[in-house]
Amino acid sequence: MKIGFIGLGNMGKPMALNLLKDGHEIIGFDTVPTNLEGITMATSTADAAIGVDFVITMLPNGKILQSVADKVLKTMTRGAVLLDCSTVDVDSTRSVARWAEAKGIVPIDAPVSGGIGGASDGTLTFMVGGSEEGFTKAKPLFDVMGQKAVYCGPSGNGQAAKICNNMILGATMIVTCEAFALADKLGLDRQAMFDVVSTSSGYSWTMNTYCPAPGIGPTSPSDNEYKPGFASELMVKDLRLSQQAAEMVDADTPIGQMALKLYEKFVFNEGGKGQDFSAMLPRFEKRSRH
Ligand code: NAD
Repeated sequence: MKIGFIGLGNMGKPMALNLLKDGHEIIGFDTVPTNLEGITMATSTADAAIGVDFVITMLPNGKILQSVADKVLKTMTRGAVLLDCSTVDVDSTRSVARWAEAKGIVPIDAPVSGGIGGASDGTLTFMVGGSEEGFTKAKPLFDVMGQKAVYCGPSGNGQAAKICNNMILGATMIVTCEAFALADKLGLDRQAMFDVVSTSSGYSWTMNTYCPAPGIGPTSPSDNEYKPGFASELMVKDLRLSQQAAEMVDADTPIGQMALKLYEKFVFNEGGKGQDFSAMLPRFEKRSRH
């Protein structure tokens, strides 16, 4: 395949390199000058989309996605696929999908989980919205960049799945951390707490796989001084998107809302920026009830 890849940052770069390794021809573009061996760099956004089968975007937010889409849709060939892997708001995704369809381009939203490690190892999970035809076309690329691709329904549903998942993740991390801090104060040993919860009804991915307590459970960012992993500010971004979406469709999400407030406080007022999102545990350790 000939692929235009726009947004060669922390995630986009390793994803593009994995596609290159698989034998695809990659035309790259980023606003920051970038040089990657084997990848031809285009001189503009629009140029990266000329004559390609796919344009893949991996960008910071919905506003940038919309401005990039506006440019590439002018030069893409009818029938080509615009595959956005960024995490952005559902509204921007659905607008871009409408513009693409009007020009005979196949839009797919496929945000990922798995982080920078998953992007490098080619083990991302893709949550995919768009037509089934588009999903089938993109599936071979998902198989190169990831280990799993779940079809979620029409355009925007990939983003919907991503933000619902991350709202659960953020809220669950908070309650796992506050439970550890409570257990400490009650004199309950952390290992005993892990042994019970990880095999009882309170178990979760945050406890069993990504335990926020250092030295307990499998190795996680807590064992590496809470270096990310998944940075707290990225959790703020995803929780904001979840609350923006909830606002848009009038959904009542009190726990998601509270999780957002806590992560915002942690990142902007309490030095949490640059720390893994599991660093909520040392935050709670230091606090008292009032
Ligand atoms: P990043 O900031 O490292 O990369 C974004 C890239 O887009 C940058 O290189 C930037 O220069 C480029 N860019 C910005 N505006 C542009 C434009 N108009 N045209 C072309 N290039 C432009 O971010 P990242 O960590 O690679 O994340 C990318 C997306 O993936 C985000 O939506 C993020 O939420 C999502 N995501 C990130 C992670 C993670 O762990 N980093 C995990 C899952 C999802």
